[in-house]
Amino acid sequence: MINELLTDTTFSDLGVSPELAAVLAKAGFEKPFPIQAMTIPDGLAGADVLGKAKTGSGKTLAFGLPIVEGLEQAEPFHPRALVLVPTRELAMQVTRDLEPLVGAVGFRLVTVYGGASMKDQIDALDAGVELLIATPGRLIDLMERRKAYLDDVTVVCLDEADQMADMGFMPQVRKIMSAVPDDHQTYLYSATLDSQVQELVDRYMTDPVTHSVEYENETVDTMEHRFLKVHYLDKPAMAAALSRSADRTLMFTRTKWAADDLTKRLRDLGVPAAAIHGDLPQQKREQSLSRFRDGKATALVATNVAARGLHIDGVDIVLHYDPPDDPKTYLHRSGRTARAGEDGLVVTLVEWDQVNEVLGIQRRAGLNVPIIKMFSNDERVSDLFSWQPPEELAPFKPGSVRKRRRRRGF
Ligand code: AMP
Repeated sequence: MINELLTDTTFSDLGVSPELAAVLAKAGFEKPFPIQAMTIPDGLAGADVLGKAKTGSGKTLAFGLPIVEGLEQAEPFHPRALVLVPTRELAMQVTRDLEPLVGAVGFRLVTVYGGASMKDQIDALDAGVELLIATPGRLIDLMERRKAYLDDVTVVCLDEADQMADMGFMPQVRKIMSAVPDDHQTYLYSATLDSQVQELVDRYMTDPVTHSVEYENETVDTMEHRFLKVHYLDKPAMAAALSRSADRTLMFTRTKWAADDLTKRLRDLGVPAAAIHGDLPQQKREQSLSRFRDGKATALVATNVAARGLHIDGVDIVLHYDPPDDPKTYLHRSGRTARAGEDGLVVTLVEWDQVNEVLGIQRRAGLNVPIIKMFSNDERVSDLFSWQPPEELAPFKPGSVRKRRRRRGF
């Protein structure tokens, strides 16, 4: 079914107008991704759409195209459509995807998030904005200053709803939703459906059409997983050696301090590295991201929170420089590579006293990969993708690890 949709359907077949189809063609988007093929007709028909999908699946256009198709002229400070996102980075990403589409139909889009000039955002709202993209905190601030009214909003998208809930934004989301008229259309996208997201679904959606893209599992299976037992003093050199073997390596540390420290050490070792974490000003974060995207930095060192929702193409290696705290984090971090069916390498550095903790994560993630002692000057480091750890050293007996299950859909 999905393959059929992928090969045969065009955006026009789904009901996308010629103006918008032309913008997509110009951007090189010829065929809809599965989530787009599955949800655009429902969105255009006015249905509430609940999508299980994460960044990289193509969900932005899945909700963005029908929203843009339905835009109507706005009065100053009274946007007509609202996309709520958890982070500034995701706000900018969504903006980048939707701006040319909104422009093509002669409407206006503005993006509001903390850390950027309030005055510019207010001026834009004053001029009239049809589509508002916002993080919850800044939007509430603007509403309290009477610079944003939601009483003309007819369609809302809650993007990465699980992240918004995890980041403690539920009270703000409720407040925002209570300012939107009841008869609006709602899109909700989330990688998981836990109780807080379920509450949003129950409260703000009416008979939603549900779609699921098993993106995360598909990609995890296309990854190669390596676990290296390392000495902590050798870790920066190991990270540098791995980075030299690839164009783009995304490295995760547990803390902001560790991210800065590793970035500095990598630079000292001659690796062009950039950092992204919550303590850095917005401008610095954007700079790091664009240097990594452009290939000027070959290593991007991130904390879990800062990397949430980011879409970066062409990540060759995800390096768990510090092991993740749990299997969910392992999967989320690792999912930054092997996008869209590409091959990806995921490497975890394990210090001697972290072995048991990491085995626990492997067991719960359904992995059974030997943890192999290695130093940074080992020649296997230069091509870990091709090197297979000896199977007989696998930590668990065959059959004792439950098979990685497809996670249940919504
Ligand atoms: P998203 O999950 O919305 O962040 O989408 C991931 C990336 O895939 C976006 O940055 C787009 O550049 C790209 N993309 C989305 N839809 C398509 C498509 N139909 N064809 C090619 N690329 C696409």
